[in-house]
Amino acid sequence: QTLKLSNKNLVQTNSFINGRWKSSVNTFPITNPATGETLAEVADVGVEEAELAVQAAHAALSGWSGRSAQERQKTMEKWHSLILQNSSDLAQLMTAEMGKPIVESRGEVQYGASFIKWFGEEGKRVYGDIIPSPKSDRKIVTLKQPIGVCVAITPWNFPLAMITRKIAPALAAGCTVVIKPAEDTPLTALALAELSREAGFPDGVINIITCSKAESVGTHLTTHPLVRKISFTGSTEVGRILMKNAAENIAKISLELGGNAPFIVFDDADIPSAVEGAIASKYRNAGQTCVCANRILVQSGVYDAFIEAFTEKVRALNVGNGMDEGVQIGPLINAAGIEKVESLLADATSKGAKVTTGGSRNSSGDLFFQPTVIEGVKEDMKMSSEEIFGPVSPIYKFETEEEAIEMANNTIYGLASYFYARDIGRIWRVSEALEYGMVGVNTGLISTEVAPFGGIKQSGMGREGSKYGIEDYIEVKYVAMDY
Ligand code: ADP
Repeated sequence: QTLKLSNKNLVQTNSFINGRWKSSVNTFPITNPATGETLAEVADVGVEEAELAVQAAHAALSGWSGRSAQERQKTMEKWHSLILQNSSDLAQLMTAEMGKPIVESRGEVQYGASFIKWFGEEGKRVYGDIIPSPKSDRKIVTLKQPIGVCVAITPWNFPLAMITRKIAPALAAGCTVVIKPAEDTPLTALALAELSREAGFPDGVINIITCSKAESVGTHLTTHPLVRKISFTGSTEVGRILMKNAAENIAKISLELGGNAPFIVFDDADIPSAVEGAIASKYRNAGQTCVCANRILVQSGVYDAFIEAFTEKVRALNVGNGMDEGVQIGPLINAAGIEKVESLLADATSKGAKVTTGGSRNSSGDLFFQPTVIEGVKEDMKMSSEEIFGPVSPIYKFETEEEAIEMANNTIYGLASYFYARDIGRIWRVSEALEYGMVGVNTGLISTEVAPFGGIKQSGMGREGSKYGIEDYIEVKYVAMDY
């Protein structure tokens, strides 16, 4: 075992079903992308275990939903404190299996835990209504009830927070859950399960299925008649498949899919803060988030000033093993990730764009890529329409506000967008015109548990976080009461 954690219980390698660890004769290796070493062998379970997990979640439903919101909050609060107490170990686990810099992993533990705290409290505020009735001898009442068994399928780029952002509202509402974490990062998910066990969730309320091939287990979970809600974060291609699966039993579905975030710097922007925002938005997690700036659009009047300051900062970024303090850019998740970055760059340069910084792999290891700036990018180049998911900044020059808005909206995606400007009229106009679920104005970082996170167009449906986040896990029942 190469992981050296102070709490040994956090390293779990079996699936978690009905409050018990479930092993399998089949296992799959979890690799540290920074070093290539195998961290652990994890149980590779199949449809049979997925079925057991759904049955366990179904059996636990009436007990859990029968508790008061206060009681559920108490268990969630305990889980929240255990996560914070173990934050250093959880951060190490995350950096080991996923590669992000340790400071970002520490940040993710806090961010991920915040959903548990927020929704534990929010569960107490799921109010129904009494609606004024058109008939004097009738009362019209609405009840809000948990939707039922939920399935969460999560990606590798936020191994902890993508799970808590989905299951915290579900648990607070009284639902039970089956989680299928990404095959690259199940260790963080299993550590969360261990802490949930210690926090005292009843058996079957939280279940985790680990498997190396998502399709068979994923299909079983998302077409299961006992599953009433599916929540997915990942690629638009898989989202499309799961939406079809959900149709089988008319299950409710939330999708948080790909993005193609524009980051627009207008002539009236404060340039130093725009540079800082662009670095934060683009290079977090080595560019591997669905809200990372994917296209940087700069107005001609400030183009040279912005590019000079931005490029200088990009060149100064420290690449290396995320475990080392001071590292800002870790490895990409796997070979496919780095190959995609290379092919997008090759396509753009073959069509006339110019790499001005970086542009190739970094010597730290097989999966490291240099922070890159590429100028003269045009809309017909692949990186203008595809998610880069790597530390590459394509730069576009524009003349007018209308042109910037048109370019920004020229995509099938609509998740996050950002712009820097000071003119109040422009700020309103552009905020309203951007076809995105989220707009960061004079900021490159927008995620917080108190705000609704989500996209429009082919970036998905539903919102996570905030008072809206719990609605996806609740059904409204209308009771007409004559007397
Ligand atoms: P990424 O490109 O970020 O890896 P994916 O959409 O491929 O995104 O994966 C996100 C999650 O969806 C992972 O947990 C993965 O295992 C799962 N997944 C992939 N294919 C399927 C499928 N056919 N059915 C269910 N889940 C799937």
